[in-house]
Order: sequence, then structure tokens, then C-alpha cells
Amino acid sequence: MNYYPREGKFTLIDLPYAATALQPVISAETLSFHHGKHLQAYVNNLNAAVAHTEFEGMSLQEIVLQATTSAILNNAGQLLNHNLYFTQFCAPATENAPSGRLLEAIERDFGSFEAFKEEFQQKGATLFGSGWVWLAAKDGKLVITQEANAANPIQRGMLPLLTFDVWEHAYYLEYQNRRPDHLAALWQIVDWNVIADRYLQQ
Ligand code: MN
Repeated sequence: MNYYPREGKFTLIDLPYAATALQPVISAETLSFHHGKHLQAYVNNLNAAVAHTEFEGMSLQEIVLQATTSAILNNAGQLLNHNLYFTQFCAPATENAPSGRLLEAIERDFGSFEAFKEEFQQKGATLFGSGWVWLAAKDGKLVITQEANAANPIQRGMLPLLTFDVWEHAYYLEYQNRRPDHLAALWQIVDWNVIADRYLQQ
């Protein structure tokens, strides 16, 4: 999976599933706006912001780690975050859980998969304003982080594994103010094979 497509300029990542595939957890309408409008805007804004600067030609991660101006940093961060977000889902399944080494690490660092989910949801629900809740790895240990606005765990030396977007645009059409309900539903569509691949690449 290429999380960072670009052909000279950055381009909009393809969704690895049909527009209706994540229903009813994420509707085709939300997906259409979130991927087709919001993410496309971050792609366009980033390309415009880096044009004729030292950042033109850098990788997305390099830009996120080195940019200091908000126009470049925020759009690059949102592009990195959304590319990881949109590529981690699959059609809903009720029995949906990690396995193998990733499950062992989750149980080691959070006690159980259920305890991990509870803490992850709680940190997503209590993140004030717009941002992202992440499962990330640092020095071999799994941690849950809250990142405001466009921030990404790589800025603090961590490997990002799984993320839930808690910007209102991610859920408002179906869930309105019920962010916790949206977060609870997302477990049905997490593609744990993708998360395990990211974890095992560290
Ligand atoms: Mn978003």
C-alpha cells in the first residue's frame, strides 16, 4: 500500500473499498464529502503551499517533521493523517479483533483488547475540539495519544498505527453531537490486517 501517492504533486489517495462498503458505520455521503472534498482540499492546499519552496519535492513525512509555517504544516499533517485513516478500514464485521503479535502487544501494554478499546474511545471522546486519537508505537511499546488539529505521532518520534478522526466532518451527518457513539461503531470496520502490517514494519 502506498500511503503517500504523488506524481510530482501530491495526489488524492484512492479508497481501497467501494463508497458504500463501510455502511452503516460510515455512510457513502460522509465518505464522499470527507474523502472527495475535505481531503482533496488538503491535497490542493498543500501543493499550493509548497510550490517554489524548499519543501517542494520532499516526502510527506519530511514535510510534517520539518515545516514551520502553518499553511504547510497543517495541510501536510492532515494529508498524512487522512491517508493513514482512509486505508485502515474494511466492510463491517461484528467479530473484529487483532491477532498474532499485535494482539499480544495490545494485551501486554493495555491488559486486554477490551481495555484498550475502552481507553482509546475515552481518549477520543474527551479530546477537546478537533483532532485525532492514535494507537502508536514507541521503543517497542504501544501507546494511545491525543493529537490536536493536524498533529501526528511521528512528530514525537512514534510510529502511527491506527487512528480515529474526531473532527466533526468525520461523523456529523449521521451522528451529529454523538461523537462517542461514532467512535464505538468504528471498531466494526477497522482492518486489523492493515494495522498489523504497520506494526510489524517498525
Ligand atoms: Mn477528517
